[in-house]
Amino acid sequence: MSLLKAYFALLFLLCVNVFAKKDVNGDFYVGRNQMIYRTEELSQEKFLAYSPLSNGTHLREAVKNILVPRVVGSAGHTMVRDYIASDLRDLNWNVEIDKFHETVPILGKLHFHNIIARLNPDAERYLVLACHYDSKYFEEFEFLGATDSAVPCAMLLNMAHVLQEALEPFRNSKLSLMFIFFDGEEAFKEWGPNDSIYGARHLAKRWEDDGTINRLDMLVLLDLIGAADPTFYNFFPNTEAWYSRLISLEERLSNADMLDHYISNGISRQYPNRYFQPNTMRSSFVEDDHIPFLKRNVPILHLITLPFPSVWHTKDDNESIIDYLATENIARILRLFIMEYLLSSQHNE
Ligand SMILES: [Zn+2]
Repeated sequence: MSLLKAYFALLFLLCVNVFAKKDVNGDFYVGRNQMIYRTEELSQEKFLAYSPLSNGTHLREAVKNILVPRVVGSAGHTMVRDYIASDLRDLNWNVEIDKFHETVPILGKLHFHNIIARLNPDAERYLVLACHYDSKYFEEFEFLGATDSAVPCAMLLNMAHVLQEALEPFRNSKLSLMFIFFDGEEAFKEWGPNDSIYGARHLAKRWEDDGTINRLDMLVLLDLIGAADPTFYNFFPNTEAWYSRLISLEERLSNADMLDHYISNGISRQYPNRYFQPNTMRSSFVEDDHIPFLKRNVPILHLITLPFPSVWHTKDDNESIIDYLATENIARILRLFIMEYLLSSQHNE
């Protein structure tokens, strides 16, 4: 994503709109096609069933498999693509590879492959979680991109593993889950409208043409996650109600003592939340893979660490900066968010 835009976003932090955290049930949000969704808090029974689920061994294994240089067109890129696709196929997800080619600065003609994984390939609507799996090309050094975005990709695969059983009812439901692993997010020379987010631009256009885009309830984009103590903000008023669910789930998990090292050394957590901040940055956003979908009116949650991790686009964005406890905490919040969304929306059908 572009740093310039991030600076603007930070600037706008000064004039953010802090929205009141709403009390759970009954918030609504008008989604695509004017459908009205009601958010419904997870029952205590479901909360207690889902919260303890985790698989740290798989998460680390997934990071290890993805954390190699994976510039579009390289051997590492093919390896990572095959790994992501087979990990999800093994869990019985439907995996489609969306191929296209384009000529790019410096590296010339490249073949791109977006990976699209659907829990139920025949669903009418989807909650979409996404990240990018390519790594940025640098002439001077080998870039690994732990936060950018090996860890987010590993988090998505890990979610499919951890929630395997919980997601079973959504294998043949009208609303189901989709993961997109975008290719070619990074610029090859200089970030701009024609040199960046190659995969997202291709897919949004294709899905606009064939109507698939109307089946996306919301796109939740993960980026620059994996370092210690990430903070997130909301950017879009039309998804505020959903973003506020992330705030509430963080608080609920913290109150139930289900977040690791959330309160350490007797220091209480930051007010009001440690990760999901209760602010909407109006009139500002960070450019990333969601842009072509935003332009086509898909509701967006952009979960990107702000400020960017200090190692952003340096050789230090490697294994050593990964904070697995923080990553697992964020993943736990997101897993509950997914379950809450899918279960609430069942009542909305
Ligand atoms: Zn990047």
